[in-house]
Amino acid sequence: MAQIDDLKARAGGVCEICGGTGQLSAEGDPASGDLAAVEVPPSEEAVLLCPVCRGEAEAPAGHWRCLEGAMWSGVQAVQVLVHRRLSALDEPWAREALEGMVLDAATLAWADTGQPLAGIEHRDANGALLAQGDTVVLVKDLQVKGAGFTAKRGTAVRGISLVADNAAQIEGRVEGQRIVILTEFVKKK
Ligand SMILES: [Zn+2]
Repeated sequence: MAQIDDLKARAGGVCEICGGTGQLSAEGDPASGDLAAVEVPPSEEAVLLCPVCRGEAEAPAGHWRCLEGAMWSGVQAVQVLVHRRLSALDEPWAREALEGMVLDAATLAWADTGQPLAGIEHRDANGALLAQGDTVVLVKDLQVKGAGFTAKRGTAVRGISLVADNAAQIEGRVEGQRIVILTEFVKKK
């Protein structure tokens, strides 16, 4: 398999998240203890991972602190995996690491929602093109269903993400809650 050999060469023969060799423990099943190529959806790019980082073996305490090192990887697919994993961990250090991650808009879009589909453009109330990470301002009061508050007209929403398969929707944080907002109700700042 050429692909796994290429990955092993890129990764230096270790897991690209934790740097582990994949040899878990004496009692570990050798067949499941190997490093394997895992695709990072929705792309077909793969990352070399050990069983723990693949989620096939229980993570030892403190295992995921390895993400703090892996977040500096130069490999885009690794950055995406690290970002997703950090987002899933509800721990102060993980949130801090997430804030420290510097990703370009394309990588962030891949990590958040999958790559934006070709041909889908998100435009604000004035028809201006919106991009991942933009700051927008609400142009009307919005009743936030389920959250029990009204997002006021004029509220700035920083670091929006684009909903990959719906050109009429973006996501952003208002009053600490992540909500879906219709693009017709926002104006790019
Ligand atoms: Zn690993």
